[in-house]
Amino acid sequence: MMRVAFLGLGTMGGGMAMRLAAAGFPLRVWNRSPGRAEAFQRPGVPLASSPRDAAAGADVVISMVADDDASRAVWTGADGALAAAAGGALLIECSTLSPVWITALAAAAAERGCAFLDAPVTGSKPQAEAGELLFLVGGDAVAFERAKPLLQPMSREAMHLGPVGSGARMKLVNNFVCGVQAATLAEALALVEASGLEVGKAVTVLANGAPGSPLVKALSGRMTARDYRVLFMLSLMRKDLSYAIDEAARHDLPLETAKTARAMFQEAIDAGWGSSDMSAVLESVKGHRIGAKTGGHRA
Ligand code: NAP
Repeated sequence: MMRVAFLGLGTMGGGMAMRLAAAGFPLRVWNRSPGRAEAFQRPGVPLASSPRDAAAGADVVISMVADDDASRAVWTGADGALAAAAGGALLIECSTLSPVWITALAAAAAERGCAFLDAPVTGSKPQAEAGELLFLVGGDAVAFERAKPLLQPMSREAMHLGPVGSGARMKLVNNFVCGVQAATLAEALALVEASGLEVGKAVTVLANGAPGSPLVKALSGRMTARDYRVLFMLSLMRKDLSYAIDEAARHDLPLETAKTARAMFQEAIDAGWGSSDMSAVLESVKGHRIGAKTGGHRA
C-alpha cells in the first residue's frame, strides 16, 4: 500500500486522515500546532516533527491547510515537504487555494520530479469524517488514476476536471456561489423578521421552495438559532470569495455579487466573528434581530 504523509489536521484534515488510517494506509501525520496533532494521535500513526519529516520516504504527500500562505509554508517553507519528497512521489494539494499559487506549486513539484494534483473538496466536517467528500481534481490523467485508491476512502466521488488548476478553479466557482447564497440568506432572514413575518414559517417556505439549495437548507436553521459552532470557519469563506474575485479579475470579470458578499463577511470578521461558523455572516446585517433574545453559540 502507498505510504502517505498527511499535513494539516484541522476540521477537514483530521477527518480525512482518520479515513486513510481506517483504510489501512501506512500514514505519517503533521500539524503546525501540536495540540491538534496530539488530539489526533492513534496507534500506528506516527506524528512527524515537520512537513519535511512527514514527507521523507512517502509515496504520496497530502496537504489540507487553510490558505495560500499555509500551503506555501508546508510545501516550500523552512522544513517544507518538497525538500524531502522523493522523485516520483505524488503530491496532492486538497486545500482551497488560488489557481496562481497552484500553478507555481505544480511547477515546483515538476522541478523535483514529482507528480502533482490539485484536489480541493466539497462537503464539510461531517462528510470528511464519513468519507463522503467530493474531490474536484486537476492534473494529468495518469496521476489521477494513481490517486484514486487513496481518494476512495475519503470520498463519495472524485471528479477529474482537467489539467492542473482545474480543481482549484472549480472549487472557487463553487464557493463563490455558496458565499453569495449565505450572505443573501442572512439578509433575507433579517427582512423576514423586520417585516413581521413568522421566522419558522418563512424558513419552511424558503427551504422547500425554489431557493432551497442544500446550503440554504443547512444554514437557515443554524442562522435562526444563532448556532455558530464551526463547520466552515467564516474567515475561510472570506478567503475563498477573495480568491474567486482575483481569479475572475484575471478574466476581466468583476464578480460584483462576490464583492458584496465579501464585504458582509469582512464586516462580520471586523465584529469578531471570524473564527465562528460562516452562518455568523448574519451578524453583519445591520439592525437584524433574529435570535437576539436567545443569545447564540460562538465558536
Ligand atoms: P481549519 O480547521 O482552520 O484547519 C486549518 C489547518 O491549516 C490547520 O491544520 C492549521 O494548523 C493549518 N494552518 C493554518 N495556517 C498554517 C500555516 N501558516 N502553516 C501551517 N499550517 C497552517 O480549516 P479547515 O476547515 O480544515 O479547512 C482546511 C481547508 O479546506 C481550507 O482551505 C478550507 O477553505 C477548505 N475547506 C473547508 C471546508 C469546511 O467545511 N471546513 C470544506 C471544504 C474545504 P493549526 O492547527 O496549527 O492552526
